[in-house]
Amino acid sequence: MSSAIPFDADAVSPAQRLEELLEEVAELVGQRNAIDGRIVDIVAELERDELCGATGARSIKALVAWKTGMTPNNAETIVAVARRAEEFPLCVEGLREGRLSLDQVGVIAEHAADGSDAHYAELAAVATVTQLRTAVKLEPRPEPAAEPDPEAEPKRSFRKEVHDDYTTYQIVLPRLEAAKLDAGLQSHHDAQIAAWKRDHENAEGVSEQAPPFPNTVDAFMGLVEAGWDADVAARPHGQHTTVVVHVDLAKDGEKPVAALHLGPVLTDEERRYLTCDATCEVWFERYGQPIGAGRSARTVNRRLRRALEHRDRCCAVPGCGATRGLHAHHIVHWEDGGPTDLDNMVLLCPFHHRLHHKGGITITGPADQLRVTDATGRELHRGSLARPPTTPPPNVPPYRGPTGERADWWWYTPFQPEPPPSPN
Ligand SMILES: [Zn+2]
Ligand SMILES: [Zn+2]
Repeated sequence: MSSAIPFDADAVSPAQRLEELLEEVAELVGQRNAIDGRIVDIVAELERDELCGATGARSIKALVAWKTGMTPNNAETIVAVARRAEEFPLCVEGLREGRLSLDQVGVIAEHAADGSDAHYAELAAVATVTQLRTAVKLEPRPEPAAEPDPEAEPKRSFRKEVHDDYTTYQIVLPRLEAAKLDAGLQSHHDAQIAAWKRDHENAEGVSEQAPPFPNTVDAFMGLVEAGWDADVAARPHGQHTTVVVHVDLAKDGEKPVAALHLGPVLTDEERRYLTCDATCEVWFERYGQPIGAGRSARTVNRRLRRALEHRDRCCAVPGCGATRGLHAHHIVHWEDGGPTDLDNMVLLCPFHHRLHHKGGITITGPADQLRVTDATGRELHRGSLARPPTTPPPNVPPYRGPTGERADWWWYTPFQPEPPPSPN
């Protein structure tokens, strides 16, 4: 037996191995850039032809993140590039040809001025993502609007403008009261965000079927709902504040007509949404005469509610996971004779409940064999569309990355937007 180390003709030096490995990376990244370019084109098409409304996702960004298994930030980049692809043809062509990366073109699409395509296409050929960010920041920005005169403190006022299907409120508050409102909003917003994160964030990030992130309007409604029954004990009969709906059953065999108490007539979808859960008070009428408040058959009593919570735990739409403020939804609507029992009820978050009654998603039962489909009839599942490829990768040259050499910003000329045409 020889004590010499066997000579390996295939042995390569670390430097050679590194070179080979990096060469492979360059080839793969070139292909990935080209694939990202194709995904950008597909997303642009989905958005242009408004194809994503049928999926039950709340936005094109959410759809991209969900179907590709990307982080919301990466999905946002894809959507930003797709939205400005026509403004930045040279940059996006660089992506399709594998010469530029999605993140490079993303910085440009997210922040660069109109008309800067050629400028940044040239810069991106050598600049890293960080350098492109700096370059975009150096663009001259329009001057911010002049500060309002601090002396002219507005008075207090509350104005309300009622439109067909929404109402605009304009509230003017002096500084101290505004600060109070802000603090109240902030504390509700913080609580809603904490609850949202608890429900929708897990080890794999945020579920893409999650309802929208709570915004200021949600915080404001949270404030209203918190005050809703705060003084209930002081009222006669302990009457709870509630939205009151009148349903007129005058015409037999025809659809009932519903209206908000002292308010506008509701659309079919608003009526079904409001009367599905028992969170509002419904008065049935015939020719304007009340015929009983109709709560008995429709309401979900505490026992049933607990049973539903025990069974469903969260919103029944796959991938949603919301646990707060859930509505009890009748799978067969009670208007159509659906019973208020466990088999015919599921818990839905307010977002998906509204989406369902607007026709955005379909929910069919019974509850133990629940099927949730999007507007095109496809069943909703969790997870991305990723599967092993069956076609060869795009045939593009390897991408070796921008040179990223030290940028001398002193000599760099930022993109100068054309002055806007004078109005006369
Ligand atoms: Zn419902
Ligand atoms: Zn939901």
